[in-house]
Amino acid sequence: MKKRIEQLVHENIRQMQPYVPGLQPQGSGWIKLNTNELPYPPPPAVGAAISAEMERLARYPNPTSALLREELARIHGVEVGNVIIGNGSDDLLNLLARAFGGEDRITSETFPSYSLYPVVTAIAGGAIESIPFGGDFSLPLEDLLARPSDLLFLTCPNAPTGVRFPMEDLRLLAEGVEGLLVIDEAYVEFAQASALPLLQEFENVVLTRTFSKAYGLAGLRVGYAMAASPVIDVLDRIRDSYNVNRLSQAGALAALASQPVYDDYVRQIQEIRQKVHDFLVTSKWDIYPSEANFLFAEPVSAAGERGPEIASTLFEWLKERKILVRYFPKHPLTASRLRISIGSSSEMERFMEEITKWQKGA
Ligand code: PMP
Repeated sequence: MKKRIEQLVHENIRQMQPYVPGLQPQGSGWIKLNTNELPYPPPPAVGAAISAEMERLARYPNPTSALLREELARIHGVEVGNVIIGNGSDDLLNLLARAFGGEDRITSETFPSYSLYPVVTAIAGGAIESIPFGGDFSLPLEDLLARPSDLLFLTCPNAPTGVRFPMEDLRLLAEGVEGLLVIDEAYVEFAQASALPLLQEFENVVLTRTFSKAYGLAGLRVGYAMAASPVIDVLDRIRDSYNVNRLSQAGALAALASQPVYDDYVRQIQEIRQKVHDFLVTSKWDIYPSEANFLFAEPVSAAGERGPEIASTLFEWLKERKILVRYFPKHPLTASRLRISIGSSSEMERFMEEITKWQKGA
């Protein structure tokens, strides 16, 4: 007798909650401050490199993304064997969970953090242990070190707070954790420092990076990881054979060759971030000093009220005005706050104007 689909699917897959991406609204006129994308277009060289690949689409791409690997190794001063390219960094987080986490392994994260970590852990047949931040969102170092972990995911600079953890704390964590410490550096280009030096010191440190944020190529889906070669070898064995398509490899390589353009973009985002931060401080919002391309802040109403109701009302109010920010209502640590991606100068001027109106009780 034929089995039903529910009987055929693995129990962990049947039970897991899938990842919920931020809204990608249809239609025009939106100010999109909800998924931490770069508000600027790619330099023409990126488009030209992608166009040049079009006539070669009948051929499979380079299976190891060799040129991109070599270039990233050169840029970061590591060996080619220390780098792997993924279909976005999500691809690599998934591979890490499959190879080192999941069933019979202890996988941990700090909480709140990137909500994909529990998903990739569940797909791999495990359940993630979430170690909550304290009220001030500082690193719960003692709690993290007090329990064993085979695979620990940490976002730095952190999402959703934007705070970068001190290098000394990261070093203590790398030293103390039994298993792999994955430092997700999706936002590192907007920050003052990277954990890259730890790669030379520790075989158990993995850094994941992406072209989706500071390189403004979220639509191309390219990420990379850097780690000791035994870790990279394992990931290489289990990835899809052609996990990064031809257009993406070419586009990302061209982006690296246009580095000064991106340095300028990042400088602009940092300046706008400071301006919006200062505006929100003046407006009495509670806010963290972000080193990423977003701010995580607690709004305050005209009457001086704060809390989940205020945050959710403002979220909807902005949405009605076609300004989309991100709201995480499910946990007390996040429910009173909004995460606001840093858009272009004109987008953020408009955002600040609307906030001023709202705070005047509009
Ligand atoms: N890590 C973090 C912390 C992120 O916020 C994101 C983007 N949502 C990613 C990784 C995934 O980036 P990518 O587009 O490279 O898959």
